[in-house]
Amino acid sequence: MSTEEFLQANEEYAASFNKPDRSLFKNVIIVTCMDPRLNPYEQLGLKFGEAIHIRNAGGSAKEALRSIMVAQHAVGVTGPIAVFHHKDCGMSRVTTSQMRDLVKKATPGRDDVAAEVDHIDFHHIEHIEQSVKADVKFLVDNPVVLQGTKITGWVYDVDTGKISKVDEAVAVGA
Ligand SMILES: [Zn+2]
Repeated sequence: MSTEEFLQANEEYAASFNKPDRSLFKNVIIVTCMDPRLNPYEQLGLKFGEAIHIRNAGGSAKEALRSIMVAQHAVGVTGPIAVFHHKDCGMSRVTTSQMRDLVKKATPGRDDVAAEVDHIDFHHIEHIEQSVKADVKFLVDNPVVLQGTKITGWVYDVDTGKISKVDEAVAVGA
């Protein structure tokens, strides 16, 4: 999309803009992949303004932790965290070492790039249910996640639009 398309679309949007009412917020944090086929507002029956939605490649809870901490400790969210991984995810097709090689190949001879990317875990998804459970466990056991937070783990099927719950636990906290 071009700058002009962004501006035109936004002009139409702003013309009939309904500012979300903060009281609509349902006190929930949703973590999903950045895949464009995922739209938790539509897929979970939520309206604009009703949830905090954190997205990254794969829907990694580890990568989302910084935002979760901000949501809980600065924004004051006390409700559940729902982590969604999805079928046919790109992160199941690329490993951390393959991702490092891709970045290095794009910048040959750059030792600074190689050194930087070698420190990044790209959170490859080997097995979807196991990756969801590992992310739930990561949040449940993490001392910076508020004690007593309900953590649920889900799989979203991009072929059917259906979700299935894989795991549920309560954060142990500090
Ligand atoms: Zn994905």
